[in-house]
Amino acid sequence: MKYLPVFLNIKNEPCLVIGGGDIAQRKVRSLLRAGAKVTVLSPDLSPDLKILLDQGAIIYHEALFTPEALQGFKLVISSTNQRQVNESVASSAKALGIPVNVVDCPDLCSFIFPALIDRSPIILAISTGGASPILARVLRSRLESLIPYRYGRLAGLAERARERVKKAIPDSASRRRFWEETLQGGLQDLILTGQDQKAEEEFDRLLETACQPAKSSTTGFVSLVGAGPGDPELLTLKALRVLQEADVIVHDRLVSEAILRLGRTDAERIDVGKAMSRHTLPQEDINRLLVSLAKKGERVVRLKGGDPFIFGRGGEEIETLREEGIPFQIVPGVTAASGCASYAGIPLTHRDYAQSVAFVTGHSRDGGGHQVDWQSFVNPQQTLVVYMGLQAFPAIRDALIQHGANPDCPAAIIEEGTTPSQRVVVGSLETLYDQATIACIQSPALIIIGDVVTLHSKLSWFD
Ligand code: SAH
Repeated sequence: MKYLPVFLNIKNEPCLVIGGGDIAQRKVRSLLRAGAKVTVLSPDLSPDLKILLDQGAIIYHEALFTPEALQGFKLVISSTNQRQVNESVASSAKALGIPVNVVDCPDLCSFIFPALIDRSPIILAISTGGASPILARVLRSRLESLIPYRYGRLAGLAERARERVKKAIPDSASRRRFWEETLQGGLQDLILTGQDQKAEEEFDRLLETACQPAKSSTTGFVSLVGAGPGDPELLTLKALRVLQEADVIVHDRLVSEAILRLGRTDAERIDVGKAMSRHTLPQEDINRLLVSLAKKGERVVRLKGGDPFIFGRGGEEIETLREEGIPFQIVPGVTAASGCASYAGIPLTHRDYAQSVAFVTGHSRDGGGHQVDWQSFVNPQQTLVVYMGLQAFPAIRDALIQHGANPDCPAAIIEEGTTPSQRVVVGSLETLYDQATIACIQSPALIIIGDVVTLHSKLSWFD
């Protein structure tokens, strides 16, 4: 290890930044965030530093560097572009025993700055020991996506409760176990979904329960998650995280094996079917299953194809959870219309062709829905996307044409969009069904009707 990683407390400590440019400004801001009293020494100041000076956030010495300038400072950063000045700062600071950083000159530094991930009060610092700051930044952006933005609030809650827990659970091993379980359980989900008040209440309850081991029980948490249309890389970062944390994954048939594999290997996976009308479990049973799993304390992911709130009956599942007082969150997903349209090179709207887009189900009667008013979808300026429309396509086509749609209107059907098996068949409203039949197009398939379909020949990119 080339450097000792430490966190310095520089609150109210006088720190000196030499140089008045953009890099100096970034260093000044880091120091200010840590509460330092910052002086900038430079013959001139960048506009941003001038603003900080006007705000009274920094002290300014309009001068060239001389070694005497270092007197009284606890930390020095040099960010001039003159090697000679930098060398002089470094040697003078070292002679006075003041920690010094010279930007971009690791050989002159007594300390270096790591790349940071700030989830205050949690700070992650990454360093390559000066070998490659860019590599440290690349690593940082990867970790950024793994650590939820609100994670720091969890630490805040732990900090506030620390003394209370110490008193309530005097035995240190039991206390450690309590913290491990509490910080990884459903409480985390409440914090990360912004339900801070509920998290505080849940914490109090957990602490009380921990003090009476006989009654120990935890409430689970359900995440209703959109898995996107197929390509696992279209999962949101949030979907990926909750999937990896789940004890149980309750999924539809539409969700691909590749996505299910992203969960923990020891997570239980329950297939509840739902490929069109061939439900393996009736909706009410799915609702009840989610409730009973959560009541056992499980962290449940209810994983649905596309977006849970677009033809996904997500609303019904959530209603039951709410009635039973089970905490939940909803993680949106890329819906089939966006996924398939993008991967087929068909923009759903376009200045020249379509000013609006409508999503409609071809399976309106499935599950007790209403009849579709096809007349309202006849609009040459609008793209129409039909979900679950394969079987009913001849009826939909006839209804649209009967209500005045142009039979020659371009139309496309996309089978297994966004996956390696994606197929796109392009024709007109009148001809598409026969073409799809000849091509043996199967479900899941999405129909797009509208002039935007003509762009497919130009914009298609995904094979
Ligand atoms: N909630 C889902 C839709 C569920 S309805 C979403 O937001 O996408 C199921 C229908 O979605 C299928 O019948 C099909 O029309 C469409 N669909 C879902 N994934 C698809 C895919 N990869 N390719 C083509 N159509 C798809």
